[in-house]
Amino acid sequence: MHGFTDDHEQFRHSLRSFVEREVTPYALQWEHEGQVPRELFQKLGALGFLGVRLSPDYGGAGLDFRYTTVLVQELMQCGSVGVPVAVMAHVEFCTKTIELAGSDELKNAYLRPAIAGDIIGALGVTEPGAGSDVASIRTKAVRDGDDYVINGAKTFITNGTISDFVTTAVRTGGPGHSGISLIVVPADTPGLTRKRLKKIGTHSSDTAELFFDDCRVPARNLLGPENNGFKAIMQGFEGERLVLSIIACAQMRLMWNTARQHGHDRKAFNQSLLDFQVWRHRLADAITSIEAAEALMYRGIDLYVRGEPCNAEISMSKLFCTETAVSVARECAQIHGGMSHMEECLMARLYRDCLAFTIGAGTSEVLREIIAGASGLSPERKRS
Ligand SMILES: Cc1cc2nc3c(=O)[nH]c(=O)nc-3n(C[C@H](O)[C@H](O)[C@H](O)COP(=O)(O)OP(=O)(O)OC[C@H]3O[C@@H](n4cnc5c(N)ncnc54)[C@H](O)[C@@H]3O)c2cc1C
Repeated sequence: MHGFTDDHEQFRHSLRSFVEREVTPYALQWEHEGQVPRELFQKLGALGFLGVRLSPDYGGAGLDFRYTTVLVQELMQCGSVGVPVAVMAHVEFCTKTIELAGSDELKNAYLRPAIAGDIIGALGVTEPGAGSDVASIRTKAVRDGDDYVINGAKTFITNGTISDFVTTAVRTGGPGHSGISLIVVPADTPGLTRKRLKKIGTHSSDTAELFFDDCRVPARNLLGPENNGFKAIMQGFEGERLVLSIIACAQMRLMWNTARQHGHDRKAFNQSLLDFQVWRHRLADAITSIEAAEALMYRGIDLYVRGEPCNAEISMSKLFCTETAVSVARECAQIHGGMSHMEECLMARLYRDCLAFTIGAGTSEVLREIIAGASGLSPERKRS
């Protein structure tokens, strides 16, 4: 089903027992600590889970994106959304970008240990003054001999404080998208300081501000030619947006199953909540929305795996899955009554966690603009 073969299912099976053994029992502890431990990456790396779709030339398995889908779906079973977010920020957002645009030397230096889980990566694009409008970033990298000297700041960076290297968007040229490069900044570079941010959700993933004060980084750490970074960032968005679609769908299934169980178990006025037609209908609407979201998500995955143009379809998938997750969360929380506001309740934690996904990797408004453009709705198209 959905293009999954026996091999994908075998992969799912081994991941499921790994998550049950090594992740779920510790997920709440990691939420309290505000980060996943380094050992998680090492354990995932030792079993080959971090390099599933990265090149075998650098220690990966070179498999298709459906394996990444399985990885995200199974990590989500731990109930702590920050866990797949942290792992995906490392393998998909950061390391995949190095594979897309980096030199052979950089790939050997960073991909191999990243796939092994020996080093942790982050992707640093967003700045205090530039989020959706990536083309307006201001963190500046100036060439000085064999180095670049970087000054500026990044914010909301997943794995910001736990990472060993940050694939960083910097301005190396003039204004706009054509003056942007990507450069790998080792976390121990003098002049780089990091501050963890306090969030309302996704507590097991660490999110941080980064400050670059005359950070000197070797010029060989640049990904591809100078001023070519914008294209790589946009290319990377496709995988990132699919990952967030998968997280949202897996999260919705978890929420709905929890709500159904609660609806059966909880009694009010001498009957189960699901004996009230209103709750059967509300959960029926929710499962219908979930199925629709999954259909869009699997269409995006299918096109992406086949290498077909699918920017609009992936945007639709991310928009619909993440927005639907917010409305499904509200329904599934409501049936939990007061428990839906208690930190100890899985549903409550999933509820607050889903709010980040209509923002990260392209807000719903930005995605609507992409979809509008692809559907002949932009003003320029109308005029032509
Ligand atoms: C938990 C979390 C993790 C994150 N992890 C990372 C990470 O690892 N790396 C990274 O680089 N970034 C990361 N981000 C940042 C994220 O990508 C940005 O928050 C996002 O791109 C939006 O940017 P902004 O917050 O500056 O909002 P803004 O761009 O200022 O947007 C504010 C509002 O204006 C709207 N808006 C903007 N432009 C338009 C437009 N053209 N039309 C209509 N409305 C518009 C937006 O949709 C939004 O509603 C993370 C964010 C969160 C919440």
